[in-house]
Amino acid sequence: MRDKLIVGNWKMNGDLASNARLLSRLASGWHGEKGRAMAVCVPAPYFGQVQAALSGCALAWGAQDVSEHRAGAFTGDVSAAMAAEFGCRYAIVGHSERRQWHGETDAIVSAKARAALDAGLTPIACVGETLAERERGDTAAVVTREIDALIHALGAEATRMIVAYEPVWAIGTGRSASQAEAQEVHAMLRGRLAQAGSGGVAILYGGSVKAANAAALFAMPDIDGALVGGASLDADEFLLIGRA
Ligand code: PEP
Repeated sequence: MRDKLIVGNWKMNGDLASNARLLSRLASGWHGEKGRAMAVCVPAPYFGQVQAALSGCALAWGAQDVSEHRAGAFTGDVSAAMAAEFGCRYAIVGHSERRQWHGETDAIVSAKARAALDAGLTPIACVGETLAERERGDTAAVVTREIDALIHALGAEATRMIVAYEPVWAIGTGRSASQAEAQEVHAMLRGRLAQAGSGGVAILYGGSVKAANAAALFAMPDIDGALVGGASLDADEFLLIGRA
């Protein structure tokens, strides 16, 4: 059985004081468990704070985005190497909020995943359909296009990424995909990855995961954990998801 990974995505939330409280509760509440890991993906200005607060803890941490470029005239961007220097382990790439609000295409998302790998980070590459796409019956076509772009760009190194299936209609809406809906897409992604020699890649589910629905989702054969937005800001709830 593949290990489970539960990753929090704080999005653009937090401040020094509330981060300190959240990190201290997570650090004291999570001591690691066999076959299970937890991490939080935090805003870039807090990398130093998170590095210090989680030093020596079982909880890992990551960035929410990285530039597809190594360095240079890209004002406001943060490179994967900069994140790595702080001890960052993961980098979310292609979150639907980046695709939607920052115009990130499959090509850009793939380049970001490549940049993360080159800096020694593990990219958590997000794929998922909008509600309109699902209602048109285009879910398979959309996620296949997105995963194929990643597989093609990363080649043999696709084995080193993590994939997150995040149906856009389930993110921040309180309406999670059902076990069956999520498993169907995860199995499809697994098949596509397996054809490319990357069948062992972890596939997380994201979209309104909470303590109340986590165990049912994690019981599915192709769901290897979760990418958790809103519920990761509440230490007790996030720890319950981690133990689900
Ligand atoms: C996310 O931001 O990746 C996410 C899944 O958010 P939420 O859990 O709040 O739906």
